[in-house]
Amino acid sequence: MKGVAGKVATAERAAASPLVSIVAPFFNEAMVIDRFFGQVIGVMEALGTPWEIICVDDGSQDRTLELLLEHARSNPAITIVELSRNFGKESALTAGLDASAGDVVVLLDADLQDPPSLIRQMLDKWREGYDVVYGVRRSRRSDSLLKRMTARGFYKTFNALTAEPMPENTGDFRLLDRRVVDRLHELPERTRFMKGLFAWLGFSSIAVPYDRPGREEGESAWSYWKLWNHALEGLTSFSTLPLRVWTYVGLTVSLLSFVYASFLVFRTLVFGVDLPGYASLMVVILFLGGIQLISLGVIGEYLGRVFIEVKQRPVYLVNRVHQFASDDRDADGDEG
Ligand code: UDP
Ligand code: MG
Repeated sequence: MKGVAGKVATAERAAASPLVSIVAPFFNEAMVIDRFFGQVIGVMEALGTPWEIICVDDGSQDRTLELLLEHARSNPAITIVELSRNFGKESALTAGLDASAGDVVVLLDADLQDPPSLIRQMLDKWREGYDVVYGVRRSRRSDSLLKRMTARGFYKTFNALTAEPMPENTGDFRLLDRRVVDRLHELPERTRFMKGLFAWLGFSSIAVPYDRPGREEGESAWSYWKLWNHALEGLTSFSTLPLRVWTYVGLTVSLLSFVYASFLVFRTLVFGVDLPGYASLMVVILFLGGIQLISLGVIGEYLGRVFIEVKQRPVYLVNRVHQFASDDRDADGDEG
């Protein structure tokens, strides 16, 4: 990211063997679970540093939880955070981050679209002193043309409207230093637009390019409608420009109206009243009516966000936390 102070290369970090927490959200991912643990555990064991995996079950309706528990039973390094229902990826990630203990936390998609093999490289960057190491897709070839175009449009719009630019083609795949995780935890907002929050947080950050493979099993939970709403959420959470722009639209329209009104008065005084004018009247009424409704809609969008924030509901609710010690006891917690 631009405009961020340089990294701090500390001797302790370079030599450290930090506890690495992997945080992965699971929503109906039964088909990939075995492969997920196979790959991730392989990578983690090769790192030669302590690790844990926090799996968040985001209210899955298939066998996801059952399979996760099977793996957790056989490996005490795996913790399952079971949410009370589906809260969405952003909330699930927040739950996972809150449950993590690592000096370093890596956010990873369950569907293996974020290659775990990159973790080593990310950790090396962290040792160099970077606090945030984020994956950047080298290409979006695995996405459809429409998705690529809409994604591009979104980044352009977002970065034009906000002060803290968000790097293009990033996902949530990233490594975070504990300090960043703690600061993120302190942000009080309910609308967790993660990518935007990371950009807002700053800290010394660096990109690691990677090729994003297609989804191996199942299908993306993101429909275009969901993506559109997600984009709106991101924009309205980080910019008030859509609200402010109406002042200028109003000013411009008023100014034009004034000029046109003067012309009409002048013409009436000189040439007298002429009745026809239905078409122009309708055009003006409909046009202004439309503009007013749009501006009301934008205000409503923000009002809705204020409403959600004011209610102060938790971002997620934990049903149970499953962590099996080697003697197979289920230590349950129920914090929120
Ligand atoms: N996910 C989640 N809750 C949801 C939707 C998705 O926890 O409501 C998880 C999902 O299991 C996966 C990750 O978020 O681990 C990314 O989801 P997906 O692959 O559907 O998104 P895409 O890769 O298309 O961005
Ligand atoms: Mg995916």
